[in-house]
Amino acid sequence: MGEIFGLGWALLSLAIASAAQEPKALPLPDERYKADILLVVAHPDDEGAATPYLARALDEHKRIAVVFGTRGSSGANEAGAEQAAALGVIREIESRNALTSLGITNVWFLGGKSSLCASFA
Ligand SMILES: [Zn+2]
Repeated sequence: MGEIFGLGWALLSLAIASAAQEPKALPLPDERYKADILLVVAHPDDEGAATPYLARALDEHKRIAVVFGTRGSSGANEAGAEQAAALGVIREIESRNALTSLGITNVWFLGGKSSLCASFA
């Protein structure tokens, strides 16, 4: 009797284990993150060079996402006293506001270490 119960238990466990290994369906892509154009730049303001192209693409109903490698916290601040991390926060806000005014809300900041570039941008 004990052997039959043990065999039944083993078969049940095997059935459960095999059912647990059924491949899971991959989740569907999230429409919010789809983009026709992905612009990748180092610092806030670097996207300005592509703004005419982005504006035309938006007129053509393209979905655009912008990725910034840094927040630009090492740049010069000619408008205020903020430096370093505080400057990076301001530059992120300014870039998000500028891109949102164009209609681009899919904006990412990777938070990389900022260093001076030739234009101090
Ligand atoms: Zn730059």
